[in-house]
Amino acid sequence: MFDETIKALKRLESGKISIPIEEDDKGYLDKQCPAEGCEFLFKVNDEDWHDIFKDEAVWCPMCRHEAPADQWYTIAQVEHSRNEALTMIKGQINRAMRTDALNFNRRQPRGGFLSMSMDVKGGTHRTYVIPAQAAEPMQLEIQCESCNARFAVIGSAFFCPACGFNSVIRTFSDSLRKIRAKKDNQETVRAALIDAVGADDAELTCRSLKETCLSDGVVAFQKYCERLYEPFGTPKMNVFQRLDDGSKLWEGALGVSYDDWLSPDELESLKVLYQKRHLLAHQEGIVDEKYVQRSGDTSYKPGQRIVVSKNDIELFLDLLEKLGRGLAEKCERND
Ligand SMILES: [Zn+2]
Ligand SMILES: [Zn+2]
Repeated sequence: MFDETIKALKRLESGKISIPIEEDDKGYLDKQCPAEGCEFLFKVNDEDWHDIFKDEAVWCPMCRHEAPADQWYTIAQVEHSRNEALTMIKGQINRAMRTDALNFNRRQPRGGFLSMSMDVKGGTHRTYVIPAQAAEPMQLEIQCESCNARFAVIGSAFFCPACGFNSVIRTFSDSLRKIRAKKDNQETVRAALIDAVGADDAELTCRSLKETCLSDGVVAFQKYCERLYEPFGTPKMNVFQRLDDGSKLWEGALGVSYDDWLSPDELESLKVLYQKRHLLAHQEGIVDEKYVQRSGDTSYKPGQRIVVSKNDIELFLDLLEKLGRGLAEKCERND
């Protein structure tokens, strides 16, 4: 009586259901980091996914979590596949049951004293799967300088998903981009916060955002120098946090120092900004004698609190960028 239904169940038992995944308009596939707490969404070029990526290992562009290639389906793709598989199974069983009912009804003698009929109600009729759609293309496309794999992210990425490589130059420029975004979005953040939490908290948050731009820049430049300096030896801890010491190290390694790329005025301004960062980190921004001495900034008296302006941050980023570019060019020629 249930021949077709039993056959359909057997077919499902033995077979695999595969749900196709579509690429986006630019030919990229959605991927997601499987590490709990990261779940970073990114995209990989479909061609490169087959030609360059390895089955054994893929790396998260954000946290460098490493896992085999079959573990990078996005949560949305997994959910879609689960739903599609279920729909298809239901559809196939439903169809088999309908066939069984039809056969059963056909076999019933007509005009007898007692007649029986079987009816299958409801259920889904779809017996095929719909591919998982791709999310919107991402703007920031990156090609790894080490293995040439192409991938795309929102915001920034630290590592190549195909080989785990971390590009020192890209990381530095991404950091500067992040700081620039922090500076440029002040007013939007302030406006949103005033509505949400009130003017006092909005002001505190925005000031803190602005001030962290300085420490972010110092750390980004320090990490950048440390990586670039690797071929020349291991410098003392945090030496690249200090402009004079860092400049001396580079002079020893490359024969050029920061004043080759910055004018005396620019170098002076950068020193003041470095000292401001130091005050914020260690004195909560309150000016002391040491600050006045070291920075040569006479616009404050000890006891005052420094102010970090938007112009400060703009200048700061421009100068770090200039130094970064100079160093990269020189290191490349030195290779
Ligand atoms: Zn991750
Ligand atoms: Zn790579």
